[in-house]
Order: sequence, then structure tokens, then C-alpha cells
Amino acid sequence: MFNALVIHKDDAGYRAAVQSVDDSSLPEGEVTVQVQYSTINYKDGLAITGKSPVVRKFPLHAGIDFAGTVLDSTDARYKSGDAVLLNGWGVGESHSGGLAQKARVKADWLVPLPEGLSTKDAMAIGTAGYTAMLCVLALEHHGLTPDSGEVLVTGANGGVGSVAIAVLSHLGFKVVASTGRPDEAEFLKGLGATEIIHRDTLSAPGKPLAKERWAGVVDAVGSHTLANACAGTKTGGAVTACGLAQGMDFPGSVAPFILRGITLYGIDSVMAPFAKRSAAWGRLASDLDLKKLAALTQVIPLGQAIQAGHDILAGRIRGRVVVDVNA
Ligand code: NDP
Repeated sequence: MFNALVIHKDDAGYRAAVQSVDDSSLPEGEVTVQVQYSTINYKDGLAITGKSPVVRKFPLHAGIDFAGTVLDSTDARYKSGDAVLLNGWGVGESHSGGLAQKARVKADWLVPLPEGLSTKDAMAIGTAGYTAMLCVLALEHHGLTPDSGEVLVTGANGGVGSVAIAVLSHLGFKVVASTGRPDEAEFLKGLGATEIIHRDTLSAPGKPLAKERWAGVVDAVGSHTLANACAGTKTGGAVTACGLAQGMDFPGSVAPFILRGITLYGIDSVMAPFAKRSAAWGRLASDLDLKKLAALTQVIPLGQAIQAGHDILAGRIRGRVVVDVNA
């Protein structure tokens, strides 16, 4: 028997509970993993609370990511004892996931733990941090360098935002952090933000074109914030859109695209191919200061994961929450 955070939907309604389960609750897959750490991402909050229909199979172990060691494998790429991590591929949505002491998944979905990161570091980064790195890679691919100018990071105190700030500042970029929690300015400056702006300056309906300021943007917020970020992006600049914390709408104008030639990159971490995800994880191992990562991370036991799921949707979480599934 082992512990799992199970999502149920039946005659008694939608609910989440930490309970003891056995191996028969695990889905098909070539690799069984002894999970050490998982995390609470925004999507985990949606799954735990049922606020959005992200879970599509019941009962299901929650948790869109995990890190641990291989228990057994029928795939030649993995053997017992290998340290691995996983995020995405519908795990924690339609395939039982990482908020459990054991998980069974397809070998194709796993990434070997990069050298230099512990399983705890990997989950301190988690899907949010890995998505932040996908955004940074897109900006680099666009040709952005620190000389290009300021980079705006929205949802700065969240998981994506805080890791994006730490990585971009490590790479030498001037990072402007947009937040609704200006009282966390010292924390954001400690991560490497050079300036803090209030998110209210971006979250209301704006003009099709604003003063050209941003060379690049990492946006975890969507809605008017994304539209205003595009409107304020400099000629030839790039915006990466990965989140919807303000809303899923995009009430923008084509003006920044046709008059300033800006580029909007959509970032999807869930279905990213192996080469892209292992490149992103490799870069996280080299370009994220582990001291900053520790500063933005708190660790909780599995028994507190349900509360943390509610807290992340309410905007009460700062940085990243690691779940020690064996505590
Ligand atoms: P968090 O909840 O940790 O961070 C979101 C942050 O957004 C909050 O901390 C807050 O920052 C800000 N925010 C919250 N509500 C609002 C609002 N109404 N208006 C403006 N800003 C707001 O979530 P994550 O960082 O884990 O994820 C961020 C987004 O990215 C989510 O929408 C998530 O679904 C998405 N995501 C997408 C992925 C992909 O593959 N595309 C993968 C991972 C995440 P502050 O307090 O500083 O203002």
C-alpha cells in the first residue's frame, strides 16, 4: 500500500483526498517510479479544487510532475535506481500522477535527472520553472540578448515568474517584474529583478500601441496584461505567452504585429518533444542559481497538498511549493 492524493468524481460529487491505495490503482506504463517529490503547480490547484475540468479520468492520482527513482522498467532506456523526472503529457490530468508515493508512466515521457540537480531541486523548478525556461529559450531563439533591452516578467511572484526572473537575471538581462504584491519587492529584487511595477499598470484595457519599452516579455497572466505587454513591446521584440492567471482571453490589437513587427510565441510545456524538454532541463541545471531556487521554495508534506492547491488559485503562494510525498 502507498499514499496518494486521489481525485474522485462520483455520486458524492467532486473531491480530493489523501488516502492509502495499492498497485492496482496505477495505470499502464513501462516504468514504475518511487516518487520522492512532486509540486503544486497552478494546474494542480485546478485539479485539486475542481475549479476547471483539467482532470478527465476518475479516480485519478493528482500531480502533473514528479521526480524520483526507477523501481522497475520494461524499457531498455531505464533501469532500477535511475533518477528521473517527469512533467506534462497529461499526467495528473488523464493518467495518474506524481502526488503519490508511486507512479507508473510511459518511458517516452521521462527525462533523466540532469547532472547537478537533486530530485528536490527538480521539483522546486517543476513544471512552472521548466515552462519559464521554455519561454527564455524562445526569447533567445528570437535573438534577444541582454543588450536588446528590458524584459518584462508578469505574474512575478508565481512559479513561472519567479524562476523566469532568476534565470533571466543570471543571463544578464535587465528584468522588470510586474506584480500585484509590491510588498514582495525585496524578494523579487533578491531573485534579480531590477525594477518592480504594479500589475494594475498592465491589467486594465489599454491602447493598441503603447510607448515602446520591452525587448522581450515572459507572460504568465494572459488577458489585458498580455495585450498591453504586446502593445508596449519594442519594434522587432518578442513576447512569450504561457499562462492565464488573469484570463484566457486575448483582447489585443494587430497593431503591434503589423506596425512594429513583434512576434508572439505560444509556449506549451505539456506536449513539448523530448529534445526540447531535455534541452530546457539541461539549461535549468546550468543557468539557475540553486541558492535563489532555495529562496523561492517551500517544502510541505503530502497531507498539506490539498490546502496548497486552494492557496495557489487564491494567489497566496509565493514562488514554488515542493511536496515531499513521503513526509
Ligand atoms: P502561480 O499561481 O504560482 O503564479 C501566477 C501569478 O500570477 C500569481 O502569483 C500572481 O503573481 C499573478 N496573478 C494571479 N492572479 C492574477 C490576476 N487576476 N491578474 C494578474 N496577475 C495575476 O502559477 P504558475 O506560475 O505556476 O503558473 C502561471 C500560469 O502559467 C498559470 O496560468 C498556469 O496555468 C500557466 N502554465 C502554463 C504552462 C504551459 O505549458 N503553457 C505550464 C505551467 C504553467 P503576483 O502576485 O506577483 O501578481
